[in-house]
Amino acid sequence: MELYELGIRQAQDGLAKGEFTSTDLVRSVIDRWRAKNGEIGAYLTFDEEQALALAKANPKAVPVAVKDLINVEGQPCTCASKMLKGYVSPYDATVIRNMKARGFIPAGRVNMDEFAMGSSTENSGLGVTRNPYDPTRVPGGSSGGSAAAVGGNLCIAALGTDTGGSIRQPASFCNCVGVKPSYGRVSRYGVTAFASSLDQVGPMAKSVEDAAILLGAIAGHDEMDGTTPEDPVPDYAKALEGASMEGVRIGIAKEYLDVEGVDPEVRRITDEAIAKCEAAGAELVEVSLPHTGYAMAVYYIIAPAEASANLARFDGVRYGHRSAEAKDVFSLDTKSRAEGFGPEVKRRIIMGTYVLSSGYYDAYYGRAQKVRTLIKRDFDEAFAKCDALLTPCAPTPAFRIGELQDPLTMYLNDLFTIPSSLAGVCASSVPAGFTRDTKLPVGVQFICGGFEEERLLRISRAFEEVAK
Ligand code: GLN
Repeated sequence: MELYELGIRQAQDGLAKGEFTSTDLVRSVIDRWRAKNGEIGAYLTFDEEQALALAKANPKAVPVAVKDLINVEGQPCTCASKMLKGYVSPYDATVIRNMKARGFIPAGRVNMDEFAMGSSTENSGLGVTRNPYDPTRVPGGSSGGSAAAVGGNLCIAALGTDTGGSIRQPASFCNCVGVKPSYGRVSRYGVTAFASSLDQVGPMAKSVEDAAILLGAIAGHDEMDGTTPEDPVPDYAKALEGASMEGVRIGIAKEYLDVEGVDPEVRRITDEAIAKCEAAGAELVEVSLPHTGYAMAVYYIIAPAEASANLARFDGVRYGHRSAEAKDVFSLDTKSRAEGFGPEVKRRIIMGTYVLSSGYYDAYYGRAQKVRTLIKRDFDEAFAKCDALLTPCAPTPAFRIGELQDPLTMYLNDLFTIPSSLAGVCASSVPAGFTRDTKLPVGVQFICGGFEEERLLRISRAFEEVAK
């Protein structure tokens, strides 16, 4: 076995026993990146020198690939946008600082949809990423580079971000475990904001245990992010000990199963996952989340609204590409933004500005916030009856590059992940099987209540065992 194939736990064990050093691990990942990245395109850049220097200074640390919107001092942070080409971070995001303090080092910058808007990484302004299970297909998105790097063994583990599904859907497409933590569990300081009431950073890994270890390393209160409460971070890896399906109440919601447009193989794998949980001792509980059907509409008001405000800073003055054509202040702003942003980002900014504009604010944004509350209540009621929901993660397996041309069809990819994002609860994607003909990986989603990551991880771990 090559070192780059290892997961976090295996790497930590080998490091502790002195079988190899962090430098050996980083060198192995670099060799793999050199050999394979041309084909997969998971990484945008890889600063070998910095990664090796960090490894030398931390001989027991595990390298982690980082989505290109998280700031690492001295590294580019492009958000896969021409807007930020050439930008170099002056500081470490809190997740990076936490990670470094707990035995990890950042190594390599991975591709994504521009500013995390998308579900296939095709919106990257800087390059194509391919699915390691079938290079004619997308890796999912927006954390597609992270998923392709983990699934293709181009890294040990990776950090992604999830606003409406961007950790879970690519994890499902690339056979990884992905965890979207509860809103507030992980600091976003130093993470380029997309939709501030939804964004979370989370682990993408080769096993639930690895995801638990990495989540424990990045989570916690941060005075630089006012949404992070002072709740202590449990030992998530320890919480997995003795994980079992026995007596777990798994909620099954018709709103997630009897849905049009779901691929029959996804449906089969989800049904089999439910049956396997039951066979392993779980109790199946029927629940209903009646406002699920509104989640998509609510998300595509709230997320673009927040994005339009967050992306206002990229004006060619303080941040971002500066047009050479500009003649005055007005054209500096408009030309820089027109040249720097790609089409999906522009679409979101236009939608967001529209729903926030005077006269429309109450009709769209205000109303969306009210429906968001109803969606959140659906989850509260469901979790009074069950420990976790089990749902499909994405409606289809990985689709072909270029297959989805219409933005609305692309948006539908997040049908199953958006409601839990709006509710601020935690959710995971865990590999559940492969499609029969195309042999593509498919994950299922588990959803638990807010700050119930221990429970989520235990159930995910138990599932990993029963899915074998
Ligand atoms: N695909 C969704 C979007 O485009 C979610 C993206 C994300 O979670 N960052 O907004």
